[in-house]
Formats: sequence, C-alpha cells, structure tokens
Amino acid sequence: MAIDSVTELQNIASTIRTCTLCTLCEGRTNAVPGSGNLKAEIVFIGEGPGKNEDVHGVPFCGASGKLLDQMLLSIGLARDDVFITNIVKCRPPGNRDPLPFEKVVCATTYLDHQLDLINPKLIVTLGRHALNHFIPDLKISEVHGHAQFHNNQHFLPLYHPAVALYNGGMKTTLAEDFLTIPTLLQNLTQTH
Ligand code: SF4
Repeated sequence: MAIDSVTELQNIASTIRTCTLCTLCEGRTNAVPGSGNLKAEIVFIGEGPGKNEDVHGVPFCGASGKLLDQMLLSIGLARDDVFITNIVKCRPPGNRDPLPFEKVVCATTYLDHQLDLINPKLIVTLGRHALNHFIPDLKISEVHGHAQFHNNQHFLPLYHPAVALYNGGMKTTLAEDFLTIPTLLQNLTQTH
C-alpha cells in the first residue's frame, strides 16, 4: 500500500535526525528537519540552523524566529499554517556558510523530496543563500519582495530575519515585503 505524503514527510524527518551523509553531522546537537504544516501552501526556507535551532532541533526558534513569527502574524498566519525549513538541516560549525557540497547533498536528498511532497503554491526564500540555491543569478537587493517564477515554481525572495533584527531599515523592508504575501497567494490560488 502506498504511504501518504504526511507519513512520508515524517519518515524523512526521522531519517534526517540520524543522517551522516555529510560532515555537518559531526558538530550538530540536533538536526533540524523543519516544522509546521505538512500540507502548507507556503514553505519558508532559510540557509541552515543556527545555535538555538541546533539546541532545540526546531527551525527559526531564536531571536530571528521571533521576528519571523511577528511577520507571519502581521499577515494573519501562524507557524502551524506554513512549513519552515532550511537548505541544510545541520548547523555548520561556528555558523559558517554551508559548503557547496553540503548544500547539494542535503538539498537533493531531503529538501527536494520535502518540497515534492508538500507541493506548496509558494516558496519564500529567506536570505540570499536560500534564494541563490534555487535561482543562482538573482541579487536579493534587486528582487526582494518581487515574486519570481522559475522551474515551474513560484518564489518570493525575502531578506533573512537575522539581517533585519539589528537594522531598522531592513526590518521595515522585510515587513513591507511580507505584506505582499496574501495577495500573491490569492492570485496563485486563482490561477492554480
Ligand atoms: S546537513 Fe543534511 S546531509 Fe549533512 S548530515 Fe545533516 S541532514 Fe545529513
């Protein structure tokens, strides 16, 4: 009997928690598969877990996570309405950028499969690394807040909440870009 997408996503999360496919497994406390609604219309994707996420095994659970929650609330959404994850599921040591090999092996093994199963209407990338994972040639400073259609998928590039935390101007920009999400989603729902 074929297993349903929710069960399959739960199985992927279990596999991630014990994954040793790249060396990022060596320094992690917890892998962070992602959390939220397994049938979400919107998936938010950051680059990789930070210190708090590594401790708790939950994405965006530190200060930048609180800001993300505020932004979600501003458009009438809660974490349970969306799915939140990262390109790599284990924290790079010292918060360094994930290496190209780490991103490729993790994303092709897990993220791609998660996205296939959730099949969101919209992927919101958080930060330039997440944006460039999907659409390499775009500059986030030029396209943030502007929907993109690439490889048959709709994207909205946003700045990373961690960047906006200590920069008032960036925070305002992120808040304004967030406000485009409901209309964008509504338009995508009508065209689906
Ligand atoms: S980062 Fe991804 S591929 Fe590397 S060990 Fe963690 S789950 Fe596995």
